[in-house]
Amino acid sequence: MNADILVIGAQGAGMSAASRAKRKNKNLDVLVLEKGPYVSVGTCGLPYFIGDLVREAKKMEMHDVAFFREQREIPILTRHEVIGIDPGAKRVTALSLDEQKEKVFRYDKLIIGTGSTANRPGISGEDLSRVFVLKTLEDGIRIKSLIDQEQPKNAVIIGAGVIGLEMAEAFARRGLHVTLLKRPGSILRMLDDDMTRLVEEELHRQGVDVCLDVKIQKINGIDGRAVSVTCSGQDYPADLVLLATGASPSTGLARSAGLAMGPFGDIVVDEAMTTSDPNIFAAGDCVAQIHRVSQQAVYLPRGTTANKQGRVAGENAAGGCDRFTGVVGTSVAKIFDLHMASTGLNEKAAREAGFDTAAVQIAHPSHGQTYPNPPPEPITVRMVLEKRTGRLLGGQMIGKFGVGKRIDVLATAVTHGLTVNQIGDLDLSYSPPFAPLWDPILVAANAAAKVI
Ligand SMILES: Cc1cc2nc3c(=O)[nH]c(=O)nc-3n(C[C@H](O)[C@H](O)[C@H](O)COP(=O)(O)OP(=O)(O)OC[C@H]3O[C@@H](n4cnc5c(N)ncnc54)[C@H](O)[C@@H]3O)c2cc1C
Repeated sequence: MNADILVIGAQGAGMSAASRAKRKNKNLDVLVLEKGPYVSVGTCGLPYFIGDLVREAKKMEMHDVAFFREQREIPILTRHEVIGIDPGAKRVTALSLDEQKEKVFRYDKLIIGTGSTANRPGISGEDLSRVFVLKTLEDGIRIKSLIDQEQPKNAVIIGAGVIGLEMAEAFARRGLHVTLLKRPGSILRMLDDDMTRLVEEELHRQGVDVCLDVKIQKINGIDGRAVSVTCSGQDYPADLVLLATGASPSTGLARSAGLAMGPFGDIVVDEAMTTSDPNIFAAGDCVAQIHRVSQQAVYLPRGTTANKQGRVAGENAAGGCDRFTGVVGTSVAKIFDLHMASTGLNEKAAREAGFDTAAVQIAHPSHGQTYPNPPPEPITVRMVLEKRTGRLLGGQMIGKFGVGKRIDVLATAVTHGLTVNQIGDLDLSYSPPFAPLWDPILVAANAAAKVI
């Protein structure tokens, strides 16, 4: 089979690339190969699927195979696992998992969107049943089915990044008692310590047992099923265990094909998303990014980035000349009643990148007191700035309302190198239901201006 553009992987990066290429030139034959059964999954919503805010698995697909075939003229072969790339012959071999048959596909341009794989930390007992990772919709279905069918009582989560914390809320919502275990190092590494304390307090308030800086020794099983986790000499009962210890690029294929690899096991790409082979592009969780503030390579796998990089790869594979110029690492998460967001560098990362930094932290109401329903709640804003120039290097926010979109003001400021004085001059909106007269961002910027 031949394709002008062959795409491997049918999630954010792959489907953005395929869609963009087809839009650029509708006469191109674009074909997508996907090893799993689902395409275009809203992976970021998996905690809400498991938490039962979304009932049916089918609703987790943003668009299905029929949509892409009929509306975008992009055929997708699901359950086709690519097992080899031959860049010299511009050929890919895939195994049809249903037919158990190998098939060969020729391409003019290839786009790799193979994403990432959930890390397994190598703890004794992690192969027991009822020990899960959460990366794909299939993982989500497995976890949800167990909760639906067996009503487990105790969940142990190993790892305290965004996914671990979102899942603490999802499990609690489903009535499980949650224990969160974290090896040395802070929770939510994107935050400075003064901010993580607010998150820890919220977890305690919500009844989550948080055990930080512990030594996770083993997962204990009976009859092949996990029953508890031993940690710093103590046993925590576990009817299910979630390993939430990050993800790594899925790049075995690219490595075997001889493409240049980066320090995170990522596929090396330039701003055009071209790999070391000019006919092969890569995008999404399988590649790293340049952090616009530190100008260093980072591995920050995000759905937003995967989609943008996919667009660039698709445009260029179809003959265009688009560029992806980097990230500032913006993220946002709901952790029970708190909203947490960050952008740019935290203080530790800024120092490590060689900046002479200062930080300010303020708390200010989310909206006007003349709009008391719901009553205003404090938003804590932390700004990390370059001492000499006052340039904003990063920002963090925690609060109950109005955090999610406010962080985007700081993301814009960090991206364009605004100083805290310039941020203090921004004409931000005011009306009591939305903001106090002095928005928390302005209050923080004015406080920061005093330390330059
Ligand atoms: C629980 C969870 C919550 C998240 N929440 C957020 C969030 O709130 N905000 C955010 O920005 N990001 C979030 N992310 C991250 C985001 O989901 C990823 O960055 C994004 O899905 C990456 O898309 P991708 O297409 O690069 O890779 P993936 O989603 O990993 O998709 C890669 C695809 O390639 C396929 N594939 C791999 N190898 C082969 C092969 N050999 N042959 C054929 N097919 C292959 C895989 O089956 C897979 O379907 C979350 C992730 C998880 C797991």
